[in-house]
Amino acid sequence: MSALSIREVFRIGIGPSSSHTVGPMRAARQFLLEFGRDIDTVDEVTVELYGSLALTGRGHRTDDGLVLGLCGLEPETVDPQDVPRVLEQVRSARILALLGRRAVPFIDDQHIVFHRTRSLAGHPNAMRFSARTVAGTRTAVYYSIGGGTVRREGQGTSAAVPHEPGPVHAYDSAARLVELCVNQGLSIAQVMLVNQSALEDEPSVLVFIEQVRLAMLQSIERGSANDGVLPGGLGIRRRAPALRRRLLESPAGDPAQVLDWVSLYALAVNEENAAGARVVTAPTNGSAGVIPAVLKYYEGHVPGADAAGSRDLLLTAGAIGALFKEKASVSAAEMGCQGEIGVSCSMAAAGLTAALGGTPSQVENAAEIALEHHLGLTCDPVAGLVQVPCIERNALAAVKAIQSSRLALAGDGEHLVSLDAAIETMRQTGLDMAVRYKETSLGGLAVNVIHC
Ligand code: SF4
Repeated sequence: MSALSIREVFRIGIGPSSSHTVGPMRAARQFLLEFGRDIDTVDEVTVELYGSLALTGRGHRTDDGLVLGLCGLEPETVDPQDVPRVLEQVRSARILALLGRRAVPFIDDQHIVFHRTRSLAGHPNAMRFSARTVAGTRTAVYYSIGGGTVRREGQGTSAAVPHEPGPVHAYDSAARLVELCVNQGLSIAQVMLVNQSALEDEPSVLVFIEQVRLAMLQSIERGSANDGVLPGGLGIRRRAPALRRRLLESPAGDPAQVLDWVSLYALAVNEENAAGARVVTAPTNGSAGVIPAVLKYYEGHVPGADAAGSRDLLLTAGAIGALFKEKASVSAAEMGCQGEIGVSCSMAAAGLTAALGGTPSQVENAAEIALEHHLGLTCDPVAGLVQVPCIERNALAAVKAIQSSRLALAGDGEHLVSLDAAIETMRQTGLDMAVRYKETSLGGLAVNVIHC
């Protein structure tokens, strides 16, 4: 541990959902890449969706993700502005060019099947791909296991990156990570950097961190400027631009105004996510606004903030995110919203504490505080869209992350509830949580908010 690359925690992709849009997009492309040159023998592709993917797939744009992936496009590199044109082209022509090469008939209603009352045992987010060729039909089952990571049935996850000969600093819990830091005089960010540099060279790691930082800040900038109504039919008006105007016109002196700025940053990112634009999973798309908001708070509102602090914030958040992915899950279909917003809040609190000079024990404490008060949080998106309660929830979690960090920094790192205990509690709570509260839109706000 940790055998998880930071690139699996932070992924630059597109909205609105990492597990329901980005994961299926990657799985579709991976399935077709398995054919190699034989792709030219494929006459038809069908995708069947099960469990949470079938129940909230339409609102989360799983069908769009699949079409894009079958076309060979990748979430990391596709131009979000180009997506509507590609989708329109496939749907109006009823022809899809597999990996951009092999044209086959494709009609959404026939070739993407939503099994709303069925699930597969491997994971609540399951999809079965079938490709008909002259030699017969080839099938494969993929699971979208959270944060855009996919696993092909019978194989390991795309998140598992084998370390050769193993991580430089091995640990299997938050407690061991802190112990390792204390014994070796390292920060959690340094441990993450050294371990990641065993997978790739250090300059590449630092370039990647800077790309993540810029993509996060750009999503705030775009979301603060883009006005209008979000897609999907709920008629939700974007709030970030108006809030920004209001804040710019407000007289200085309100000591709580910084909270509004933090909320604005988070709203901006998640409104962009809801619109299908470029965001960074952190650790998921639904929770993509928390860490950028805290990063922007650090850079714009904390005296003395510097580039090294921003880098430490992201590396530390990545290390904590990796712990969650390995010890529990960041899939709302398994954990509910505690696994998305709770985890992002925990990561952000840890990262901010590191940037502010906190000790490894204080970082661990901040991560624990932030998670502890999200335990039990359900996932109940109205109309299956990543909008209500998702967007606002990011704003609240960003503020909570800052406060968690401040509480931890006010102490000496000694505390009763360990981060390991909180993560295990989240995992057990997720297992016990009724399925209707786990990204199915069958319970909670999703059934109590009237919408047309
Ligand atoms: S309620 Fe939470 S977990 Fe569910 S889609 Fe929204 S942000 Fe994600």
